[in-house]
Amino acid sequence: MPEAAAMSVSSPAEISWLRARLTGSLALPGEPGYDLAAPFNVAVQIAPAAVVAAANADDVAETVRFANENGLRVLPQRTGHGAVATNLDDVLLVHTTRLDELKIDPVGKRARVGAGVIWRQVLDAAAPHGLAPLVGSAPGVGVVGFLTGGGVGPLVRTYGLASDTVLAFEVVTGDGRLLRVTPDEHADLFWGLRGGKNTLGVVTAVEIALLNLTTVHGGAIYFNGTDASGVLHMWREWSQALPEHANTSIALLQLPPLPGVPEPLAGRFTVAVRFTSIAEADECNALLAPMRAVATPLIDTIGALPYAAIGAVHADPVDPMPVLETSGLLDELTPEAIDTLLRVAGPDAGSPQIIVELRLLGGALAREPEHTSAFCHRDAAFTLLVIGVPMIPGVPEHNAAVQAAMGPYLTGNEFPNFGAAIGEARMARVYDENTRTWLSALAERHDPKGVLRVGQTVRT
Ligand SMILES: Cc1cc2nc3c(=O)[nH]c(=O)nc-3n(C[C@H](O)[C@H](O)[C@H](O)COP(=O)(O)OP(=O)(O)OC[C@H]3O[C@@H](n4cnc5c(N)ncnc54)[C@H](O)[C@@H]3O)c2cc1C
Repeated sequence: MPEAAAMSVSSPAEISWLRARLTGSLALPGEPGYDLAAPFNVAVQIAPAAVVAAANADDVAETVRFANENGLRVLPQRTGHGAVATNLDDVLLVHTTRLDELKIDPVGKRARVGAGVIWRQVLDAAAPHGLAPLVGSAPGVGVVGFLTGGGVGPLVRTYGLASDTVLAFEVVTGDGRLLRVTPDEHADLFWGLRGGKNTLGVVTAVEIALLNLTTVHGGAIYFNGTDASGVLHMWREWSQALPEHANTSIALLQLPPLPGVPEPLAGRFTVAVRFTSIAEADECNALLAPMRAVATPLIDTIGALPYAAIGAVHADPVDPMPVLETSGLLDELTPEAIDTLLRVAGPDAGSPQIIVELRLLGGALAREPEHTSAFCHRDAAFTLLVIGVPMIPGVPEHNAAVQAAMGPYLTGNEFPNFGAAIGEARMARVYDENTRTWLSALAERHDPKGVLRVGQTVRT
């Protein structure tokens, strides 16, 4: 092994040494394979020292140990949906796309999923067995990135957080050990990996419980922007009485006239009321009646929906795009908060944002799971998301203006997966003080050299 002191990522000899140890590949800037790191969020420039396309867990461990010996850092990435802008000059980016193991155990109702797998693949593999994973609004998101951030999906009120369905992780800790982590083995890591993003390790595989679920009642009702005030105020009242089997969000949309965007929604201001439920159609239709009656819908897609098509409910973008996203949480949604949101982001506000969304929380999410985790703020009542294209003039400023206007109604906290960002202030919003202290202490123990101190991590 080369001398640690002489190591530098720019040294061809040492890089050749690591390359030779890998089953997968390593690419320096300009080499084939380096572009693998181009993130889904193309507004974020990713320029690591090298990109390691790990072919197995040993490649990940080898890379982490190399980083330990050479004063480098390691950042895992799959899709780049949650990419954040930061200096990666001394960072080996471990790309997980080749960790593509995916096994469904129909009898045990569980799945073993490599860190390179995205939710769409798990949905498709589980569906023929009548089984389903708890996914987020966009099936193109990576399984592990979603789960390490908690995972708040379109059925969160009914079944809770996706990370509460995790049975086991396989993870390379910052000191280069490959561990199996369950509620009984390395229980401290099991707590911290569910919510702590990449603070405690690079996950190489995960095992999750699957639900008996094939169909939901779901979709969205789209209204004209001119009806926004009535629709939002009605949604506020209506959503407060929803039973746990039902989930909803509301989005102020300004979708560009691009292929795939339905004509009635393209290039104009609309409002989408999203709905998912596991109840029968009659019960759902009765529940939905007041929302359907509040104005004349442009489109109403709510009906029986194969769970594997759950992505249709939010209809999030599937192709890489530039995104500026900020988030917040609310403990309650008052009429004044709705009026404020309309004033700053409604149809007459001149808002340049593509999506401004409120998501109803509560239900199963708010209950403590069997095994506690590092995911905080379970008791929040709503999320607020503001999403725009940062290079469109005025978008960043307007985003800040929405956050400022909504400030009096926000708790000051955030969920790890929404509005990805780094830094101490962000971590103080995502985790309470106790959780930060524990995550940081665990990181110190499992990663004494701070190899994983990059991205959305908690270290004091
Ligand atoms: C269109 C869209 C819709 C979304 N909808 C939802 C939603 O409904 N609910 C929700 O909770 N989130 C949602 N998200 C957020 C998403 O879950 C996070 O951005 C998540 O981190 C994406 O994971 P990724 O692996 O795809 O992205 P990446 O950018 O590749 O990874 C993001 C982060 O996840 C962590 N991570 C990734 N891989 C590993 C690993 N192997 N080991 C340890 N840590 C790892 C790291 O912190 C990494 O920086 C959405 C995002 C988008 C863009």
